[in-house]
This record gives sequence, structure tokens and C-alpha cells, in this order.
Amino acid sequence: MFGNVLVGVRTLQWAALCLGLLAITAQTASAADCRGHPGALGTSRTLVVDPRQHPRIGTMQYAETLPLGDHEVVLTFDDGPLPRNSNQVLDILASQCVKATFFIIGRMAQSAPEGVRKLRDAGHSIGTHTQNHPTGMKRMSIERARQEIDDGIASVKTALGDDAALAPFFRIPGLSRADGVEDYLASQGIQIWSADFPADDWHHISSSRVYDIAIKRLEAKGRGILLLHDIQARTVAALPRILRELNARRYRIVHVVPATPEQPATPTEPQQWQLHPPSENVAISRWPKIPNFVFADVEMLSAPALADLDGPDGALLPLPESLDRARPYAHGVPLPRQAPWPRQSPLPSETAETALPVPSPGVFEIPEKSYAALLASSPASRRAEQAAQGQPRPTKLTSIEDDEPRRSVRGNSRLGRAQHTRLSRHPGRGGWHAAHSRNVAPGMSRIPVAVR
Ligand SMILES: [Zn+2]
Repeated sequence: MFGNVLVGVRTLQWAALCLGLLAITAQTASAADCRGHPGALGTSRTLVVDPRQHPRIGTMQYAETLPLGDHEVVLTFDDGPLPRNSNQVLDILASQCVKATFFIIGRMAQSAPEGVRKLRDAGHSIGTHTQNHPTGMKRMSIERARQEIDDGIASVKTALGDDAALAPFFRIPGLSRADGVEDYLASQGIQIWSADFPADDWHHISSSRVYDIAIKRLEAKGRGILLLHDIQARTVAALPRILRELNARRYRIVHVVPATPEQPATPTEPQQWQLHPPSENVAISRWPKIPNFVFADVEMLSAPALADLDGPDGALLPLPESLDRARPYAHGVPLPRQAPWPRQSPLPSETAETALPVPSPGVFEIPEKSYAALLASSPASRRAEQAAQGQPRPTKLTSIEDDEPRRSVRGNSRLGRAQHTRLSRHPGRGGWHAAHSRNVAPGMSRIPVAVR
């Protein structure tokens, strides 16, 4: 398997090498054959394509484009013929021995049929571009779209007088693609040509700007289909400079023709029809496309019924033996089954002393005035407290010695006094106890408070 892959890769490399050599040879021959124009750009090679295998091309809209090598360019011209400008375009191309593809409007062909025949006689490829150049084919009915397509083809054929001279190439006006139009053209074996980059020559811009855009966009992609308009005067003015620059930058012109029984399609690999095929050295971040399954044609599986769980005799399948054996009987009558889950056991009693969180000092805060009043007015309360101090206490009381350095935190006490909080670990019992004492005024008793 791996060996086959290697052989395949080497074959591909050899094919590419041979293709390159052929291209160089063809370019040399073409430039040499361009009589009277030494150093002309020429046409490097002829690419034969099968529209049925690749019905839509041009990366401006589609996944595929022509299988061009690096620095290979295909020139296309739309909307003609308009003799005043189109004839100049023909002369300019002839001066460089360049072959291109023209997309003819049927109505223009009716007006200037000799212009269409000039294209054929010069050896260019001729496709169609509808009858009336509607700009919104995606919004029109498919019946009207088909009429536009068919009428355009008929008009160009009439102008040519030779059906075989018309290539099954079509460009949608304004590149206004629509599914119905694409499906119809594919059913007719007609290849839709989008483009890889336009030069914006239908806008009101200068010919210098057309040149700049054409070269800049070509350089950005390195190869591809250039969309121009032979009816535009600015294109006529820009074209000689564009061709000279292509020649200077070592671009090569490729002429595209349709496959015929006598002229089969140029052998290509599928990845050559992608402008930037993914490299083996680059991880692909895109997930593969999900196939478009036709779920309506797939029989649905039925949900299992309870009867599916029955035994052969219709009885329910027995439970596992361990559960069945544990089923008790009383007086010959089976008692309800025991629940299969284990008995709940009580949680182990907590014997260890748990540590409690330190309570907020505010819990023990007593307004000083209230406490002083309590001491003064209620001897019974004082006696009760003293008695309480004499009783066995559940926890050790902690007090702050007078001579102990105090760490006071001045908080938001309503009395405006500092409050003293200390944490101490009770010896031998574990757990943290908080002792809070009010930082009282001199002469007042310090009241220890303990919590646990
Ligand atoms: Zn057009």
C-alpha cells in the first residue's frame, strides 16, 4: 500500500516535471513562432478540459479552478463583440501570440456576427454569456434563465455558422450564480466559468488602475483566470501593458479548449483543480464534510418492545439467580422481592470533637451601656453569672491577661472601641476556640466569653 503511494507520488512528480518541460518547450516554440514579434509573451500550452468532469470552475465562487501551474494565466474577455474595442483587443493579443477565451453576448453576436467569426479565425475559444446579459439570474425563474442561456447559444452559433466552433463554456452575467442555473448548465454538459480574479475594468476607473489591479491580484494568487471585458476602452488601453508585465514577470499564458472525441482532456490529478491544495506538511483544521445522506430512503429501526424481553414461551426472562434465590416464602406464598440494592447502613456516629468555625465577633457584641446597666440594676443576674462560672463548664474559658500585649483591630464597632479577638487551641481537646473580650475602659471588669 505504502509502496503504491510512493510510486504514485513519483509518477505525479514525473508527470509534473514532464508537464513543466513541455510547457517550457511550448512557450519557446510559441514565442519563436510569433512572427514579427520577437520576445512575445506567446501561449505556453493548450489545456483540454472536460466540462462534464469539472462543471464549475473559478475560485471567486467555486471550489475548483483550472488546473494551472504556478505562474500560469488564462485570459478571459466578456460582453463582446463590440468591434470598436474588441478588434483592438484581438490585435493586441495577436501581437503577443496570446490565445484567450471570449464569452459572447447573444445580442452582441447578432449585431456583429463578423466579430465572432474573427475570434474563431484567430484561434480563440468562444463561450457564451446569455442573450441579453441579465444581471440578476439568481432572481429570475428557471424558465427565463434557460431561455437566456439557450438564446445566447443559438445567436452565437448562428453568427459562427459552425456549431463545432462554439465551446461548451458559459459565464453567468455578473457572476450571479444560482442553483437552478448551475444544474441546468451541468445537465447540458456546459462548464460554468467564474474567475479567480477580476480587474474591475467595468468600473469607472483609469486604465492605469485596471493594470494595477490585474497585476496585484494575479501576484496575490500566483496563477489563475483573469476576467476582463473587451468592450471597454480602458481595457484596450491597459492590455498591452498587462501583457508586457506578464512577460517580464515570467507568467505564461494557457489556452483552454473543450475536450472532443478527437482531442481528449489533458490528464490531471484532482488536487490540481484546487488553487491551493492542502499540503501534506500542514495540518488541516477543517473536519471532513458530512456526506449528504438521504435519510428519507433509509428504513427506520423500530424501538424495542417489552415483548422483546420475553422468553420463548412468553414468560418474562428470569432475574439473576442470586435475587431469585433470596426471595422469601411465607406459607408457600412468595413474599415481595427484596430490593436489589444494598441496605442502607447508618452513618458512623461522630465521636471526635469537631472543630467549629470561628464566629463573627459581632455575635458577642453587647452594647456597653446596656451591660453596665444590667450589672448595676440586676444583682440576680450577677449572681447567676457567678454561679454559672462555678459550674462545670463544657469548655474552657479563655481570658486575655491584662499584661498581655494586645492586638487590636479597629473595626466598625458602633461604640467606637477596639475589639480584641484571639484564637487559642484548647489543650488536649483539639479544635479552635475563639475568645473575645471587649477592650473596656480602665476600671471596668473584663468579661471573658468562650465558644465552642
Ligand atoms: Zn458580462
